[in-house]
Amino acid sequence: MSPTSAETPVDFIRAIVREDLESGKHDTVRTRFPPEPNGYLHIGHAKSICLNFGIAEEFGGTCNLRFDDTNPTKEDVEYVDSIIDAVHWLGFDWDDRLYHASDYFDQIYEYTLGLIREGKAYVDDLSADEIREYRGTLTEPGRESPYRNRSVEENLELFERMRRGEFADGERVLRAKIDMASPNLNLRDPVLYRIRHATHHRTGDKWCIYPMYDYTHAISDALEHITHSLCTLEFEDHRPLYDWTVENLPVPSRPRQIEFARLNLTYTVMSKRKLLQLVQEGVVSGWDDPRMPTIVGLRRRGYTPEAIREFAARVGVAKRENLVDVALLEDALRDDLNRRAPRAMAVLRPLRVVIENYPEGQVEEIEIPVNPEDASMGVRKVPFSRELYIEQDDFREVPPPKYFRLSPGREVRLRGTYFLTCERAVKDADGNVIELRCRYDPATRGGAAPDGRRVKATIHWVSAAHARDAEVRLYDRLFSVPDPHDAGEGRDWKSFLNPNSLTVLTGCKIEPGLEDAPVFSHYQFERQGYFCVDPDSTPGRPVFNRSVPLRDSWARLAASR
Ligand code: ATP
Ligand code: MG
Repeated sequence: MSPTSAETPVDFIRAIVREDLESGKHDTVRTRFPPEPNGYLHIGHAKSICLNFGIAEEFGGTCNLRFDDTNPTKEDVEYVDSIIDAVHWLGFDWDDRLYHASDYFDQIYEYTLGLIREGKAYVDDLSADEIREYRGTLTEPGRESPYRNRSVEENLELFERMRRGEFADGERVLRAKIDMASPNLNLRDPVLYRIRHATHHRTGDKWCIYPMYDYTHAISDALEHITHSLCTLEFEDHRPLYDWTVENLPVPSRPRQIEFARLNLTYTVMSKRKLLQLVQEGVVSGWDDPRMPTIVGLRRRGYTPEAIREFAARVGVAKRENLVDVALLEDALRDDLNRRAPRAMAVLRPLRVVIENYPEGQVEEIEIPVNPEDASMGVRKVPFSRELYIEQDDFREVPPPKYFRLSPGREVRLRGTYFLTCERAVKDADGNVIELRCRYDPATRGGAAPDGRRVKATIHWVSAAHARDAEVRLYDRLFSVPDPHDAGEGRDWKSFLNPNSLTVLTGCKIEPGLEDAPVFSHYQFERQGYFCVDPDSTPGRPVFNRSVPLRDSWARLAASR
């Protein structure tokens, strides 16, 4: 696809890339997606993935996958694997360009020795607290550390001893010698290396000093000849340090850092730290709980890579922080599944219907389109018989105004076939309706009455003798307020969890054939929404997750308030 084609939105980042290619500043574009393997990826990362891989794809360049594994204590192979899977699942590939910041530890160490020799870095004995105190504030310049003017020789010797493990964690650090009076706090002699006696998941115990994130990131980008290093806005203030690093080291290229607004979504939290807390405290069943905004969670919920990519494209790239309505994500999924998902009938809260004038033992096969949006998907045959299940909700003994579904004496259409009239409701000893006795009109098999009479509602159904049982899990928003971080009143974000975010329905009745649907396959249950087969399914006993209802009931609720 050409980057100038009408379908490709030109945001400010794409505009910069195009200009750099046109002006000859670069002859190709190289981007990277640099996750820290300390958690599962979420929809915000998906935006970054779509941006980095998408730009490379559109401009005929490349995008690397690089693990920013500079923090040995928080990282985990489980996370590495999940990140690889998630990027692939979204439909992107890095060929043989899978890198780790830890691959560069030797090189970074060499560069650092050079910095020390040039008098641009020093070993500091101040404690972390003292360093913070000396750093000053936004309105006050910092103070120089008493160790700032050590000789090159002493610095080289101390740094070497740090590397050999002679000091405890936190006892010394290596700092860049930049400017303690800089208005940018990140330039007030930032820490470049710290001591961590910890086993790294890739380098094992080879190192007990680890380079800091900002420093490592800039070097890694330069070593990989990244042309445009795209990151989120919180790194804007770090850009001078990024530039300082690539300017003061003999690195082979000069990448440019460009910041964009991170994606925030309503009714959820997005930071890995908070998501981890939800997992650890058992608020959700795991990283892949379908209520989580993680990629594994969205996938299990029934999101498709196409829908997520479309969402990322619709959201676009902005320079200012904003909060995106989750309804936009849901719309992207509906649009995708509307085109692709086969239709099926499922009764979530069943009510038995007996059609008194339908012959006992007779079964008809009703032909219904698999997807009315796509004739090429063909038709399916759905058995029809004397006893059916319909939704409890589709009957009211005393119909409220504008209720056009079943009630005693009222006629409706059964999806794909006959008209049905309710004669009476059968109740149990407590007065609950447990069955409807009905009559059908054999002349209406095609869904219309020869005498031209109309019905105002069509309801779905499943033949009782043919129905299969299923469990259905309905999900609602994880939080009950749009922005749980900022709901105010001094309340903890977790106090805004929606207690009704999960409803489990057992004993649902589904069309025969659906019981063996493969895990992760998608259906539209007529009138209910889009559903996806959950990995908890066992043979003959499927579990369906509601991915999204057919319409946005929250929008309607909000509008009616
Ligand atoms: P979090 O703050 O959610 O824990 P992070 O920024 O620490 O995430 P990283 O693994 O460092 O996570 O992120 C990898 C890449 O994804 C970075 O380039 C980061 O800027 C980007 N990214 C992370 N969160 C978002 C988001 N919400 N929107 C867009 N990009 C994001
Ligand atoms: Mg990070």
